[in-house]
Amino acid sequence: MHVFGLIGNPVGHSLSPPMHEAAYEELGMEARYVTFEPDPDDAAAAVKGAAALGVDGLNVTIPFKRDVLAAVDPDDRAARIGAVNTVDFSTSPPRGYNTDAAGVRRALEHHGVDPSGDAVVVGAGGAGRAVAFTLAESCDAVHVANRTVERAESLAADVRDGLPGGATVTGGGLDTLADRVPEATLLVNATSVGMEEDETPVPAELLHTDLAVLDAVYSPVETRLLRDAAAAGATTVDGAWMLLFQGVAAFERWTGRDAPVEAMNDALRSHL
Ligand code: NAP
Repeated sequence: MHVFGLIGNPVGHSLSPPMHEAAYEELGMEARYVTFEPDPDDAAAAVKGAAALGVDGLNVTIPFKRDVLAAVDPDDRAARIGAVNTVDFSTSPPRGYNTDAAGVRRALEHHGVDPSGDAVVVGAGGAGRAVAFTLAESCDAVHVANRTVERAESLAADVRDGLPGGATVTGGGLDTLADRVPEATLLVNATSVGMEEDETPVPAELLHTDLAVLDAVYSPVETRLLRDAAAAGATTVDGAWMLLFQGVAAFERWTGRDAPVEAMNDALRSHL
């Protein structure tokens, strides 16, 4: 029996258990996916305990993504981003990965969106970091716009330092969207705006047909930003695709097998 799981606090509403268990069922694997809520102040103890218990793999969510970095051997991408969301215990020390980055890339790829050209990332929190670092690997330019301007500028500086010679990376306030979005080919919302209320962080009049729009918000699946983007003729990618493909990437890291993407997607969407 293989045991995989999730550490976070809280984890009660996580969609990862049904998504991963659908994969085990589809492939006839003897495996379970379990959620844990360890002490938020001791990520290292949780990783050590999971290793001692023979857990095969862990996903990591808020508030542990940064602290787990120090308790594992992170790959280059996770180290650059400064956050781990997937731990593989098949080696000692366990390896740490950031499959949120893979989730962004594969969600775009699945929709035929080439992450090149000029990108705008709205938000500079945990999701914004993973998205900005990921897009800076392949885009010509990445502009981070955030409500708190200093966080956008600091993230842009981190990306420039982490990926020297890569994209041109800039940061600014939400007022910079008016200049940047009309010129952009890719827009990602990595704020929580749109989750609680039917609001959008990007004025509808800035959206256009040459734009692909990924909204990291997955609940609701159809946000106001995506409705506005569709009305403007833009390509839209909802946040459930990003969530799906970070799970797919974690499954593939842990098992070395191709994930049954359709079964995982069906399970995820039936729980949303
Ligand atoms: P976080 O670290 O708390 O960051 C929140 C971000 O939202 C910050 O940039 C914050 O700006 C901004 N924000 C919050 N309220 C705002 C408002 N009223 N107006 C403008 N900006 C506002 O959260 P996170 O972990 O990055 O998550 C952000 C969103 O991404 C959530 O909806 C989460 O569910 C989603 N997410 C999705 C996936 C996926 O796989 N689809 C993965 C990770 C996260 P300030 O810096 O100014 O506070």
